[in-house]
Amino acid sequence: MERIYIGMGSNLAAPQEQLRNAVQALTQLPKTQLTGVSAFYQSDSLLPGQPRYTNAVAALESALTPLELLDALQAIENQQGRERLERWGPRTLDLDILLFGDRLIDEPRLKVPHYQMQERAFVLYPLAELAPAQLELADGRRLSDLLAACPFVGLDRLATGD
Ligand code: ATP
Ligand code: MG
Ligand code: MG
Repeated sequence: MERIYIGMGSNLAAPQEQLRNAVQALTQLPKTQLTGVSAFYQSDSLLPGQPRYTNAVAALESALTPLELLDALQAIENQQGRERLERWGPRTLDLDILLFGDRLIDEPRLKVPHYQMQERAFVLYPLAELAPAQLELADGRRLSDLLAACPFVGLDRLATGD
């Protein structure tokens, strides 16, 4: 079993409900246990002119391979009406693999750790609720250092369960 962290985001069609449905879908994955979900956060879109996002991070223990998990996450995105019209366009649901055990993955379909997590407060702060601060990424970086370099800006933490 590997410890995996999934970054979740939505800014269309009732984002908080989208995330709650996604969490429910994660509990149905084969060979997998959902071990934690962060609070929900709201964040400004990285691109102007989009609705604000709701974000959270989920922790899994899974025996799926990385590509099996990616396929399963994309199936959940599709089930929840994800349309890929433009890169970084507004979306009902985005599920990204942030960390997969201590693996470094550099394949055409999958890069882990997620290539931009260090720049994304909406990823790092919810991740820090679930992962130990001394967590070391597969590439040697420490979560605590990434947090120290990424200000809590443009982010609102919602009450748990909202
Ligand atoms: P960003 O990657 O900047 O967060 P995005 O999540 O909107 O953008 P998507 O359209 O969801 O991008 O995914 C584009 C492709 O990224 C997917 O088809 C997938 O193969 C690839 N990908 C690479 N690394 C990962 C990862 N760690 N998690 C999820 N998808 C990944
Ligand atoms: Mg993404
Ligand atoms: Mg994605």
